[in-house]
Amino acid sequence: MNEKPAPPRIGVLAIQGDYAAHAEALIESGAVPIEVRKAEDLAGLDGLILPGGESTTMLKFLERSDFFGALQGFSAHRPVFGTCAGAILLAREVRNPHQRSLGALDAVVERNAYGRQIDSSILTAETALAGGPLEMVFIRAPRIVQTGAGIEILASRDGLPTLVRQANIMAATFHPELTRDRRVHQAFVDLVSASLLRSDSSHTG
Ligand code: GLN
Repeated sequence: MNEKPAPPRIGVLAIQGDYAAHAEALIESGAVPIEVRKAEDLAGLDGLILPGGESTTMLKFLERSDFFGALQGFSAHRPVFGTCAGAILLAREVRNPHQRSLGALDAVVERNAYGRQIDSSILTAETALAGGPLEMVFIRAPRIVQTGAGIEILASRDGLPTLVRQANIMAATFHPELTRDRRVHQAFVDLVSASLLRSDSSHTG
């Protein structure tokens, strides 16, 4: 009865970008990372990370075969965390320029929003996560310019959200895998564990 639950199995989309750093961060946060390269790899996963990279390149890859549709289905039922390009993929609407997105996060995201001079920067800011200010690494980062009512803002930059949670979905416009602080990945692993507990209790009545 009091058995420790098995660690959650969390996929990391491994098409391009820094998926290896996410896998490492997941291990350090008590999860088992699984590299995902095709729709079939999603089977049996408890959650998924969409890493940073170039969202247009990722999108092209996803649109071959029906990987895009499979991800849409997955994100409707299981926790998904998108960072940077991954956050762009999750959005309801993408601007600058417009491109197709999964629509799992009720937010409007503007790509490459900080312009050339400050396209990459490191910033420390307050966060709703316990444990004090959070260091955020931005690389050609997008900006979340509109959020729906169900979105909880966990950190911001210049008055706009940089880390958000909406039910089973999390998104960051920065790269939490590139710092030593594991609080962001831990928050996602906790979300996945909580969703597993809920689905367990619904199976057993
Ligand atoms: N600029 C990239 C895009 O628009 C995102 C950059 C990143 O993921 N670090 O897709």
